[in-house]
Amino acid sequence: KRNGLRQLEAALWELPVSFKKGMKVPVHIAGTEKLIGGMDDAVFDQISNVASLPGILDRAWCMPDGHKGYGFPIGGVAAFDAEEGVISPGGIGFDINCGMRLVTSSLTWEELRPNLRELVDTLYSRIPAGVGGEGALNLSLSEFSDLCHEGARWCLKKGYAGQEDLARTEDEGCMDDADISAVSREALERGRTQVGTLGSGNHYLEIQVAEPGNVRDMDTAAVFGIERPNQIVVMFHCGSRGFGHQIATDYLKLFTKISHAKYGISVNDRELACAPFAAPEGQAYYRAMCCAANMAFANRQIILHLLREVFSEVLGKGPAETGLRQIYDVTHNTARVETHLTDGVEKRVLVHRKGATRALPPGSVDLPPEYRRTGQPVIIGGSMETGSWLLAGVSGGARSFFSSAHGSGRVMGRRQAKKQFSLDEIEKRLEEEEIYIRSSSRGVLAEEAGPAYKDIDEVVRASEAAGLSAPVVKLVPVGNIKG
Ligand code: 5GP
Ligand code: MN
Ligand code: MN
Repeated sequence: KRNGLRQLEAALWELPVSFKKGMKVPVHIAGTEKLIGGMDDAVFDQISNVASLPGILDRAWCMPDGHKGYGFPIGGVAAFDAEEGVISPGGIGFDINCGMRLVTSSLTWEELRPNLRELVDTLYSRIPAGVGGEGALNLSLSEFSDLCHEGARWCLKKGYAGQEDLARTEDEGCMDDADISAVSREALERGRTQVGTLGSGNHYLEIQVAEPGNVRDMDTAAVFGIERPNQIVVMFHCGSRGFGHQIATDYLKLFTKISHAKYGISVNDRELACAPFAAPEGQAYYRAMCCAANMAFANRQIILHLLREVFSEVLGKGPAETGLRQIYDVTHNTARVETHLTDGVEKRVLVHRKGATRALPPGSVDLPPEYRRTGQPVIIGGSMETGSWLLAGVSGGARSFFSSAHGSGRVMGRRQAKKQFSLDEIEKRLEEEEIYIRSSSRGVLAEEAGPAYKDIDEVVRASEAAGLSAPVVKLVPVGNIKG
């Protein structure tokens, strides 16, 4: 399935349009030889199907953490002409605006260590996690509708956010095109009880340490607020829960019915069901997607609020002393209207990023002023055992529409991981490594074990070598609540 793959650079590979009949643009895949060798064949198949979609521009991309997904591979990036291209739910993902938030603190590991267990236990009891988890805010439909239109601004209004939190969130935590009238009743009912919840499995809130030996770029780390040896940071990962999932499901069903019948679009894979972005149905999905994006921004903001409360309570320190300042919040499952140079012309395009993080370069006016010198913080998870990374956007990222990896990516499915890894061994390892984890079920530990994921350091090497982002600091886990 990968015959025809050409190596262009040390960490960049191409599938030319001759790879598959119907491809409109070539595919670029970022990755070291090792990562490319380990990628499932489905990635090559799926991303070349993406390259065949109507209105795709320049190149379809797959990030170094790429693996098989629904329709698009996870790690897929594709830009479509805003007038002539499509919007595809499979290019955004079921968990709309799943994203990562990174928060720094004024504490060091030495200071926090005696309280770690109590802190993790209290976070676990306060932040609902698990499959059906419902939040403390049980919103009426009218309040939830406001939240969907206002995103993190709703949280500011209600006292759950500070101005700086919003300034340091992608799109300041609100996509303006949200329109609740495009959302089904069923989705609203699922969503309104889930604000302030983590979700299951791969969603997590992790206490991490920035060890001095792991800082790759001290100046940038300092601008991001990481400047003390063994400083504690908190990274969390979650999205729009059942709300986004229902919206994706609703519109996939609609697009499956109409994309060929009404718009004459043929796709290589029914999971790529789509609609013209400019058509009423495409616009409706986009506006509903923006509602889910706003729900997710609010969700992560409420979790930050709970995090601040718990830290203060357990450590007996006020907010000024815990110093939990947001570094950044960035989504990795979205479609955004952006302006990019394609074939030398500036164009309005709809960029799909599915398991890929936007990575704005230094100088971008869309960044808060304090980050214009460094580029955008790019937050990527690794695993509960191996560590995670903070990187920064670079100007070379222009060729991938300023996109970078979002994590390490799975090596195997959950079921396989459960079969392969012994829970006793994982627990022993965690004990030895001094990583304290609370999860909604013991089985999650096997599904989420370090070896179930690719080597995060290799993904970072590939991102750097391909010129998509620059490493700043590796963050190692000490405590985690897993959905
Ligand atoms: P996804 O958005 O594709 O579901 O997952 C994002 C990434 O988060 C995964 O590719 C994986 O690398 C990372 N990840 C999953 N669970 C954990 C965890 O418990 N801790 C950390 N640090 N990263 C995780
Ligand atoms: Mn998610
Ligand atoms: Mn995610």
